[in-house]
Amino acid sequence: MHSFAESVFIGFDDLPSGTLLTSQYPGVIFSSSQGCANYVYSFSTGNIICTGPIGGSIDCVRDTYIDFTSPVNNLTFFAIEPNVAGVDAQFRIFQNNTYTTTIDLIGLGGAGNEFVDLSAYAHITRLEIVNILQSPLENGIGWDSFSFTPVPTLSISSLQTPSTTGNLHSFIATDTITLQAKVNPPNQGMAVKWTVMGIGPAGGISGFPRDQIQNTDGGGVSTFTFSPSDNPAFVTNRRTTWATASTAANDPIGFEVIAELDSNGQSNKSSLSATNLGSLLQDQTDTLREEYYDFNVPVPSRNVIVPSLGATYNESPYSVQASVDLPGHYSAILSAYRSSTLIIGTQSIPIPSTANVVISSAFRNPRRNLAIGSVHPNSKHTVGQALDLQPVPTFAVIDGVRTMLDLHDDFYPALATAAATQGTAIAEQGAVPVSIGDIHENHIHVQWLAGTPQANSIVAAAIQNAIQSHAAALILGGDFSYTVFNDEPANSSFQLNAFHLVVNAPFSVTSSPAGWSFVTDNFSYVDWFCSSGVAPYMGDIAPGTSMQGFSIHSQVSTSASLSFVMSSWNPGTASSGPGYMDTIASPSITTVVPQLTNIGLSSGRDFQFSVSGIPGYSYTIQYSSDLINWAPILTTVAPFNFIDPNSAVGPSTFYRAVFVPQPSTAPDD
Ligand SMILES: [Zn+2]
Repeated sequence: MHSFAESVFIGFDDLPSGTLLTSQYPGVIFSSSQGCANYVYSFSTGNIICTGPIGGSIDCVRDTYIDFTSPVNNLTFFAIEPNVAGVDAQFRIFQNNTYTTTIDLIGLGGAGNEFVDLSAYAHITRLEIVNILQSPLENGIGWDSFSFTPVPTLSISSLQTPSTTGNLHSFIATDTITLQAKVNPPNQGMAVKWTVMGIGPAGGISGFPRDQIQNTDGGGVSTFTFSPSDNPAFVTNRRTTWATASTAANDPIGFEVIAELDSNGQSNKSSLSATNLGSLLQDQTDTLREEYYDFNVPVPSRNVIVPSLGATYNESPYSVQASVDLPGHYSAILSAYRSSTLIIGTQSIPIPSTANVVISSAFRNPRRNLAIGSVHPNSKHTVGQALDLQPVPTFAVIDGVRTMLDLHDDFYPALATAAATQGTAIAEQGAVPVSIGDIHENHIHVQWLAGTPQANSIVAAAIQNAIQSHAAALILGGDFSYTVFNDEPANSSFQLNAFHLVVNAPFSVTSSPAGWSFVTDNFSYVDWFCSSGVAPYMGDIAPGTSMQGFSIHSQVSTSASLSFVMSSWNPGTASSGPGYMDTIASPSITTVVPQLTNIGLSSGRDFQFSVSGIPGYSYTIQYSSDLINWAPILTTVAPFNFIDPNSAVGPSTFYRAVFVPQPSTAPDD
């Protein structure tokens, strides 16, 4: 067994007489009262120390203070010539940095040296020798032959994770976390026990390292590493409890780490939280990245995670998001789209340079992605490499009549072509690919290869709010009513004539203002437009005025900030004007994951429960006897009650309800 309790002896014979003594000996600091010091002094028995004023003569009557950098045991030394009977000096003792007691030095009553034994006092950190008797008979006292045994102390001295921001040392489950603890005085081969305890979502989970021994190296340092994913219980917890649908942000995972030294039967602990090294706690970036580990899909690197780009680009509940330059790709697609030309009959009609494209979905974190029914946990939307885009239809003047061009025949093909300049573009109806131009399409999904993450700077030119406008929403349950305002100055040329609203829930249009028509798919968008075809374009919204009566009803009463676009018309030139794009409260499903309630027995016999989900959408009841193999019993529209008349027969049966993606309704993928 390695002995760390090596005693230290200081006899001063290795220093020249006259040396001013301070910290020449490791672990000990000698000092005196203000303006005074201890000096090495040549005496008949060899070198001793005596005090005196700095720059004056040694008189051996000043205070001596001795500070130990780590606590000591077995402290002994000699008093040189304490000659007077009675109290010649006093020893003030500090243990573990706290004053505890004062001991009197009783003089010899004659010449000689006296052994001072303070070994009864453990963990001495400071000794003050004071009140040396001022007597001609005394002629001062010297000190010599200090002997003591340093007590090793332990403190966690280093914490390293792949990322540190401010006071947070952040990580994800698979990262290696390294801590070091230092023993003072340094000593090799000392056993340091390390224990890890989970905090937050990791709290109460067993299986993290406990009393794991890492011996100190030659510098007295014990190094300990652990990785949260080395704990199977933790992994199981993540992969079951956390790989589920949710619209809320996860709490960060944290750890407390304790290093412990067992010396002479006395425990000597250091807690990470008691140091000034900061917290071992996930930041928002790693809290989000942890979701990918939970879902067992590749984890995006930290440089893909950027501060939230706003509601349009970020459907997650985090203040950060993944983005491989979503704004840059959007801007490029919009530019290409605005350079497109439509062929209408025999006429070539350029898409207005002010035409807009709205983003109906961009980044979704894995839990949100699942909550809206995506069957692809590794969807490009979860890594910021995909956009869902809707064209905003505009008018053209054909044969002198203002005409709303066709969404599917005209605008979708132009948008698909523009989107294809940035990656792979397909038309989709919800999650289902359809032909470009198909009347069921409700967005163009475009995704691209990762490449190098870009700056994500939102290009000002891309969203041309060149017209002053705004909208207000009035929400009563599932009824959403909108008023739109033309905030242009009175002398402006621009009248509002179209209103595109993004929706993410089943709905129907319940009213439109007089003179306005609409097109919609009753799930993802509604395009209202003024149907007047000739000047003075009755029903357009003039500068300084507003119009209400844009109303929809949804089976869901939950909402989210979704995009809308106002388009304008210049009656003087009979051409499209600039648009205005922003977000506003719009019906939005929060989850397609069904809830099972009212579980019990019907008529005291048949097993039953209620299924809620998105009202009006289909769910399949499945059953299983082993929780592995599932078979369908019934598919019907939520909400509904389910009664299994055969449940009283046979062994135990398990049930679950599963969302059925529907081409006309499913959220996109
Ligand atoms: Zn998509």
